Amino acid sequence: MSFVFDPLPTPSLAVADSDTRIPVRRIFCVGRNYAAHAREMGKDPDRDPPFFFTKPADAVVGDGETVAYPPLTGNLHYEAELVVVIGRTATDVDQAAAQDHIWGYAIGNDLTRRDLQLEARDKGRPWDMGKGFDRSAVIGPVHPAEAVGHPDTGSIRLTVNGETKQDANLAELIWSVPEIVSILSQSVTLQPGDVIMTGTPAGVGPLVEGDKCVVSIEGLGEITTIIGPRA
Ligand code: MN
Repeated sequence: MSFVFDPLPTPSLAVADSDTRIPVRRIFCVGRNYAAHAREMGKDPDRDPPFFFTKPADAVVGDGETVAYPPLTGNLHYEAELVVVIGRTATDVDQAAAQDHIWGYAIGNDLTRRDLQLEARDKGRPWDMGKGFDRSAVIGPVHPAEAVGHPDTGSIRLTVNGETKQDANLAELIWSVPEIVSILSQSVTLQPGDVIMTGTPAGVGPLVEGDKCVVSIEGLGEITTIIGPRA
């Protein structure tokens, strides 16, 4: 068998303190997983079970990269998130076993074309063009769970040009990481290289050309993204 054209390189994530990398299979994202963020988006956090959307694997952007202001939006938003990387096949795992399937954790920034996402949401259409555009998944180096454990508390913060915009704690997640992995694994078989962005706290807002956006999570360091001119 031969391909009619060469496949593109496998998208991958850096590994902290290592030259090795993690091949990315799929990127799942959890919607509205902090109560205060659900409320700022006009939704009731108490009645909404977790729901998922996706980004393409090749939307990943590493720490320190410049992201060109994307097309067809006037309202690009940041979203600070804890990222989970699956390292072992998971089919219908229970919460108690979920951590056994996690390879590690990273800091993420779920870049969002908020105007397109809200228009789709309000019209009952898919979120793909609001969420899954090129270079929309900023994910920093992955820290192995065997080194950092399984973070379930600790600060998650985001600054734009040094000004604090999001300041919350991982303990405020409505659905914990084990719950998310368990619930998602009931819907699809998770495989090594699947990545889950676990949702953002309150305080989301716009980025403009020239902005420097820094996300930090206690125990995982920080990642930086610069917003460049429209491509
Ligand atoms: Mn998000």
